[in-house]
Amino acid sequence: HSETMQPHVAVLSSPGMGHIIPLLELAKRLATDHGCQVSFLNITAEASAAQTQLLRAPDLPPNLHVIDLPEADVSALVSSETPILTRLSLIVRENLRCLKTVLVDLGKPNALVIDLFCTQAFEVCEELSIPVYSFCTPSAALFTFSLYLPTLDREVVDCEFVDLPEPIRVPGCSPIRPDDLLDQVRNRKSEEYEWFFLHVSRLPLAAGVFLNTWEELEPVTLKAIRENPFYHLLPAPPVYPVGPLVKETEPITESDAECLTWLDNQPPDSVVLLALGSGGTLTAAQVTEVAWGLELSGQRFIWVVRAPTEDDPSATFFNVGGEANDPKAFLPDGFLERTKEVGHVVMSWAPQVAVLRHPSTGVFWSHCGWNSTLESMTHGVPMIAWPLYAEQRMNATVLAEDVGVAVKPMADPGKGVVTREEVKRVVSMVIEGEEGKAMRHRARQIKESAAEGLRCDGGSSYDSLSRLANDWKVN
Ligand code: UDP
Repeated sequence: HSETMQPHVAVLSSPGMGHIIPLLELAKRLATDHGCQVSFLNITAEASAAQTQLLRAPDLPPNLHVIDLPEADVSALVSSETPILTRLSLIVRENLRCLKTVLVDLGKPNALVIDLFCTQAFEVCEELSIPVYSFCTPSAALFTFSLYLPTLDREVVDCEFVDLPEPIRVPGCSPIRPDDLLDQVRNRKSEEYEWFFLHVSRLPLAAGVFLNTWEELEPVTLKAIRENPFYHLLPAPPVYPVGPLVKETEPITESDAECLTWLDNQPPDSVVLLALGSGGTLTAAQVTEVAWGLELSGQRFIWVVRAPTEDDPSATFFNVGGEANDPKAFLPDGFLERTKEVGHVVMSWAPQVAVLRHPSTGVFWSHCGWNSTLESMTHGVPMIAWPLYAEQRMNATVLAEDVGVAVKPMADPGKGVVTREEVKRVVSMVIEGEEGKAMRHRARQIKESAAEGLRCDGGSSYDSLSRLANDWKVN
């Protein structure tokens, strides 16, 4: 091959499995399907066990190289008390001080792909004349909201966005209920807001933005991006929907294999997968209600349990996969014994994609992180939407109200938890009820449209990536 024919692309993700997984997936596709040489830049500082396992997987394509960035010590700047985006942004800032040297040593790649929160890369790459593409790993709806945020921030002067009496209308897009707004924009005086605002206000610097979505999942937003005249007034980069990019394979541990064998012995569409992303944790009271609700429902389940936390629903975001807890310590007495015929409990981390792909899985009880959402849709599995942090409330509302593939359990306002009766009701409704049947039917339609977009002979998402890879060859 000649150098000019094989573009060299560097890919850089901020910490957190919800960012690393889709960026690695993009890197794999560029290497395998689109003839690119790919360097995946790995921020090793504070890496979780799950991150290390993923990036050391033996089956990465030969033209994809994981490059560990030298670790910058951030212990003086962040602690487990630091809010999630502030912590992530400080880790990124400190660990990107070496970026210029790394990119020069790599012979200046033809392009750098970053996620939303690695925006320090823009200055470095401007100096080196390397175009930077942003891979927006959440929904297209979050992307348009983000582009619009500086305008909204100027227009709303006398209150917080969450106190607005009316839904927020990003031009051309579905209105967003103030209650559904992401955590980071609920208090404009917070450091979280400052970081979010800084990162999203740099979006227009990107040479292009990849969105992990496709037409059938977010038709209104993608139409707005294409057609809405107001959208074009914003300084917006070209947008490339390339989704759904989700893991196809994942490293399987011994406990994963056990979980999959258990699943092999269950009837089709009968099992509830309850897993709350990399960060999700519940309060002790809520864990108790979920356990009783599952048991009372009599339905089959796989439950990825974590030790409860009282004040941080994203407690394991930075250290997932490494905890060793004894579930007996926090599950109701005798729960494991009483449910051993119908339930399979795993600690901390499950092979989520393999479980969702399995024909026995009937519904995914999820925190609605965007990757989990895409994985469920790719495999045609309806959802029980239980948002916990970040922008998950927005995702849950879209899935339940626009797409029609999810149901939201109702919290009991007096008790502040979703009660065992409610857990039992939604689980039984989706596995056995008519409403569940309709959701499953809709999820299967979405699955087919996803496969269509990814086809290498004319799929829209596949073509978007192909065109870009060709552009990089020419430059
Ligand atoms: N995941 C997994 N096993 C688990 C929990 C999570 O493999 O037990 C993976 C999941 O498949 C998804 C990612 O971790 O790809 C979580 O990303 P998401 O955007 O859903 O949520 P986040 O972790 O960013 O909140």
